[in-house]
Amino acid sequence: MSDPVLALSGITKAYNHGLPNEVTVLRGIDLSVARGEVVALVAPSGAGKSTLLHIAGLLDTPDAGTVAIDGADMTGKRDAARTAVRRQDVGFIYQFHHLLPEFSALENIVLPQLANGVSPKAATARAMDLLTQVGVDARAAHRPAALSGGEQQRVAFCRALANGPKLLLADEPTGNLDPATSETVFAALMELVRSTGLSALIATHNLELAARMDRQIRLEQGALTAP
Ligand code: ADP
Repeated sequence: MSDPVLALSGITKAYNHGLPNEVTVLRGIDLSVARGEVVALVAPSGAGKSTLLHIAGLLDTPDAGTVAIDGADMTGKRDAARTAVRRQDVGFIYQFHHLLPEFSALENIVLPQLANGVSPKAATARAMDLLTQVGVDARAAHRPAALSGGEQQRVAFCRALANGPKLLLADEPTGNLDPATSETVFAALMELVRSTGLSALIATHNLELAARMDRQIRLEQGALTAP
């Protein structure tokens, strides 16, 4: 069997070490996401979900434990190596789109590819293809401010997938949208993920959306439980 795309083992994390306000956020997390698997991470606010996603995506380091991306153990790796894996293999989606306001939808998807050494022509073709998949191709030339909330989020999905990551990490990807928009935007995300065979860890408060993923895990008081 191939390695899991994400393997977390014995992850612990505390903030404010040694201070009176020390807070232990993660207490020994073990989690694997298999190739092509979409896992829902359900957690009450403050449970440590963002901390867990940041550690999984190599944006933060655990106090103890290991993070392996597609079989590569990143423990103790230098920043340059972590950044390279993060750029190439991990896509992030947040509750807010975080698109660059002065660039068009298309350019927002092209730029990360150029930073990764893709030619402008190939990057543009891929960006248009992704925008077409999520139904926002007609809005390619618009800046984010001229797009609806649902469209902005769809563009953010395309940007996260621009460099063909192996792992998608999403923190409440539809949490900022009204229920009807959330539904269609989530469907677009799932279609995109399934069509590329991506592995994903998607945090959501929405139990209906969680139920449509392959598996649910619950983060409570720093530990994972099955619901
Ligand atoms: P969630 O995403 O589940 O809402 P977070 O991972 O953002 O939770 O935070 C979990 C806990 O850790 C919270 O109690 C939060 O206040 C605390 N925390 C998060 N980041 C920091 C930090 N940089 N310094 C101190 N405490 C933090």
